Amino acid sequence: MNRKQFLKILAALPITGAAMKLSSLAKMTEPLKNTERMPVLFLGHGSPMNAIEENEFVSGFRQIGSELPAPTAVLCISAHWETQGTFVTAMEKPRTIHDFGGFPKALFDVQYPAPGSPEIARETKELVQTTTVGLDENWGLDHGAWSVIKHLYPKADIPVIQLSLDRTKSAQYHYELAKELAALRKKGVLIIGSGNMVHNLRLLAWDKLNDTDFGYDWAIEASETMKKHILSGDHQQLIDFRSRGKAFDLAIPTPEHYLPLLYTLALQEKDETVALFNDKPVAGSLTMTSVKIGAA
Ligand code: ZN
Repeated sequence: MNRKQFLKILAALPITGAAMKLSSLAKMTEPLKNTERMPVLFLGHGSPMNAIEENEFVSGFRQIGSELPAPTAVLCISAHWETQGTFVTAMEKPRTIHDFGGFPKALFDVQYPAPGSPEIARETKELVQTTTVGLDENWGLDHGAWSVIKHLYPKADIPVIQLSLDRTKSAQYHYELAKELAALRKKGVLIIGSGNMVHNLRLLAWDKLNDTDFGYDWAIEASETMKKHILSGDHQQLIDFRSRGKAFDLAIPTPEHYLPLLYTLALQEKDETVALFNDKPVAGSLTMTSVKIGAA
């Protein structure tokens, strides 16, 4: 609003309420407080059953949650929200979306009632210059978000918003867009990419669904190469994933579970460390390998 409009509003306020209204107006327009730079995560989410099972991956999520400073909010880029254009969830109360089939009722019964944050959604929209980010009122939290965030913040007391993946754009585009989110880290926002680095459901070893030490040769090869580039900071090799050969093509048959990794890596500053956890293959053609950028 310009000065003239502001004065008009002031003039319309009753004298007694003016001071109070002024302070709440100031609060409305006040930017989020600056904080230490929050770490950034990539979480391998794997099966939706991880939401309700007890296993080593769930322990890993809990552990990482306990190590982090309490965030003001979580911004999640999930493999499970692809759109044309880029959107950020902007509702006060995002619904829990059960975007899967064939799982037990107990999984459909899970609710993760974390609040949204229209304020941080608007802040995110303003930060991104590459494209016009739309404010979304319809999505909510898909299982790529809630099935893992519930282990980090079981009380559901931290606001969560999601940023969608524009399915029409290149890996390079996503990497550049992610960089524009950097300022949120200093506002206490925990940015989480949620997907799986190696993710080929068509080639799952159905007889080894719970085998957390079994990966096909190509899956291990792709995983080792990915980890090497993550740890050395050679992100361009990972952005150009379509020219990395057969193992990568099998590991990334479609890009949506891989792209959230690029969002996480794009936010690594030069002085920041990178660490891996939950670093295991599952059922042959998946890896749960997760990444933490920055020290807590
Ligand atoms: Zn998934």
